[in-house]
Amino acid sequence: MEQRTRVILHSDLNNFFASVEIARNPELKGKPLIVCGDPKERHGIVLAKNEEAKKYGIKTAETVYSALKKCPHVQMVASHYHDYKRYSDLVRAIYERFTEKIEECSIDECALDVTESVALFGSGEEIAQKIRSAVKDELGLTVSVGVSFNKVFAKLASELKKPDAVTVISKENYKVKVYPLPVSYLWLVGGKTEEALHKLGIRTIGDLAETDASVLTKVLGKRGRQVRVYARGEDEEEVHWQKTKEDMKSIGNSLTLPKDVTDREEAKRWLYALSESVAARQRAANVGRANTVHLVVRNAQLQFSGWQTKVPPTALCGDIAKAAYELFCAHCPTGTRVRLLGVSVSGFDYHVEQLTLDNVIDEAAGEISYEKKERVENAVAKIREKYGYATMQRGVVLGDERTDGLDIRGKKEEIISETQLRGKEE
Ligand SMILES: [Mg+2]
Repeated sequence: MEQRTRVILHSDLNNFFASVEIARNPELKGKPLIVCGDPKERHGIVLAKNEEAKKYGIKTAETVYSALKKCPHVQMVASHYHDYKRYSDLVRAIYERFTEKIEECSIDECALDVTESVALFGSGEEIAQKIRSAVKDELGLTVSVGVSFNKVFAKLASELKKPDAVTVISKENYKVKVYPLPVSYLWLVGGKTEEALHKLGIRTIGDLAETDASVLTKVLGKRGRQVRVYARGEDEEEVHWQKTKEDMKSIGNSLTLPKDVTDREEAKRWLYALSESVAARQRAANVGRANTVHLVVRNAQLQFSGWQTKVPPTALCGDIAKAAYELFCAHCPTGTRVRLLGVSVSGFDYHVEQLTLDNVIDEAAGEISYEKKERVENAVAKIREKYGYATMQRGVVLGDERTDGLDIRGKKEEIISETQLRGKEE
């Protein structure tokens, strides 16, 4: 069966900070302008500039002093971050007229999946044009929108023409439009990757697409295979949208044990089983990593106790379980009869992981990177989804036949609310 072609937009606000400053104060329009932390501080840094300032060769991140040398009459304004956030939200509200599947890549860039919206609002290109004109008419800002059948090409398209433009890269035209471009135009290709590709004689995206995968893997590892996939228009990454992520403050699971537990090792196995379901849900919810682990214990006298601890940001079962077990050991004296255990995480960073060269280097150095552990846990979750929970068990869980093969994901005999938990914290 042929898969449906996705329709992805990548929308990038042009000279965003400077444009908001002009929207706030139209008198600034048409003149070279830079945004800086403190305009009186000549050693301050240029945070943003408009098209007119660009013509003088002014660059982001250079000093105000050097910008003034290039253009003595450049207008300088202090940054107003709250206004940038406010405008960013207003732009998002425009996107939401067309789809709820919006991924915020940064304050001025979003990826939108409008595959389902085409029947209602017209083709991807038509939707992009509607967004472009609404942002301009209603907010006085301009946007460059790329339209394509995957995220990588949509982003690339958004960069091809700006400001105030729509560019389409389709399955019909990508070989003509994309293949002649330098490899550095491709997402994740910069610096060292570009250098390595040049050494192989690969200069254009087309060269990269037509190079044997094994050649690339030899020189660049997994990253080589990845950039080849991008070049060939085979990127399948989804737009990571999360409608209610702002509401998701914590994710947890708790369980009344089949019998009271007094043995620490046994409690540890249950904590691993609980943490596994928590970590899997956390990753599925795309909320990023958590910086706090909570433990709830109910004893044989039915008294609740709860504790929490800060952890290095994580979405891994191993990290969560370890922190929960440490809390358990610190607060539950040996011999405590435990009837219920609950594990939850909070303090999400909503950070979406990207594959970076650092991961590859870590692995080359023989370290198991966070990303690798995460991939392993994701793979396990997928196998379980397909073949049942009992097919794969952690060593620590396998030690006890009472937890072996027991699916605790759906069991929530005791659901502990966050407020209840807070109320019981020491
Ligand atoms: Mg931008």
